[in-house]
Amino acid sequence: MAPEGAAIDIVVKNAKPWRDGEARDLYIADGRFVTPPGSGDSGGAEVIDAAGRLCVAGFVEPHIHLDKALINEDVRPNVSGTLDEAIEIIWERKRVYEVGEIAERAGRVIRSALANGVTRIRSHVDIDNIGGLRPLEGVAEARRRHSDVIDIQIVAFPQEGILKNGGTEELMWQAMEAGADVVGGMPFNEKHPQDSARHISIAFEIAMKYDADIDMHVDETDDVGARTLEMLAQQTIEHGWQGRVTAGHTCALAGYPEDYANAVIALVREAEIHMITNPATNLMLQGRLDAQPKRRGITRVKELLAEGINVSFGQDCVKDTFYPFGRVDPLEVGLIAAHAAHMSMPQEIEQVFDMQTRAAARVMRLGDYGFAPGCAADLVILDAANAAEALTKQATRSVVIKNGRVIVENEARRAWR
Ligand SMILES: [Zn+2]
Repeated sequence: MAPEGAAIDIVVKNAKPWRDGEARDLYIADGRFVTPPGSGDSGGAEVIDAAGRLCVAGFVEPHIHLDKALINEDVRPNVSGTLDEAIEIIWERKRVYEVGEIAERAGRVIRSALANGVTRIRSHVDIDNIGGLRPLEGVAEARRRHSDVIDIQIVAFPQEGILKNGGTEELMWQAMEAGADVVGGMPFNEKHPQDSARHISIAFEIAMKYDADIDMHVDETDDVGARTLEMLAQQTIEHGWQGRVTAGHTCALAGYPEDYANAVIALVREAEIHMITNPATNLMLQGRLDAQPKRRGITRVKELLAEGINVSFGQDCVKDTFYPFGRVDPLEVGLIAAHAAHMSMPQEIEQVFDMQTRAAARVMRLGDYGFAPGCAADLVILDAANAAEALTKQATRSVVIKNGRVIVENEARRAWR
């Protein structure tokens, strides 16, 4: 926290903080929000007029793959459009991964995110016997280069399976030693359900050794026989890791019979698992082999929210073999999420806005997120009065502040002739 009486660096006038009271002036000193000073204490401060517009404490991107981003230009296209083919195509590319080019691609995506108002990112990086630790090293290098403008958590992600892909368990331990923050997983990508359970057990062994959170890709499949969300929830409770585990995708949950779906959701709630849906990617990948009507491809967002479970969403993929678009813009993904999850009521649209801000901050367990005195001074002024307008207009991020420094100013210009 900034010391009492520290000189004010920035005053943001008439800001309307998302879900945090009425429009007011916000004060920033030494990279933190601070309580309003007595009169005359902010003489040298930069003054920014938010003019009553909506402000967020930075957008939070809780699920992305920076190591794979932007590779779609140098690999063959995904003809079937399925997850399986997307993974196979990457094998070829991964063999020739180099740390420098991964860092360069990741850096471009990080700067795109920042320009869109994203000030915190959680990125998965592949850990397997094809690319080894190079994806981790490349993204860690990009993180180092951008460490003063964005916060990045790295998840060690065994996409090829842990038991199925020889040597991956050892690489997972090495990845944590080499700077990964969070233990990842993809338990459905094993040969047998017993191996899926073992995959999850190994992740917990590693997480407990490093006192780390867990964030897995769970049941990203149209196969309604997939049962790894239940396994993950059970093991979370057994290991006492409630509140520290995140499940991404969980597409199969949408297709379960109602009784089983309700039982799993109750278990997810008991395990305090954070859920992340990735609507852009999964609308693109899922249901490819369905006859009409084709499934929507995303998890049971509204049912999870109705049970009080923390639900967020992520960009997931940026121009890779899984998804050909993406620019890490939470307003773009939010608009897609609203469509995919049927979130059209005023309060549901506000929930969508929460998913890319406060809910995502809970996923990443950010202790210094928000506008309260002492929180990191991340702030984005949106050219919109409220959440619905921001999503509708895909509002310009007029000012992006990270840790008390103005990083980006954006301007929309239109000239009628
Ligand atoms: Zn993913």
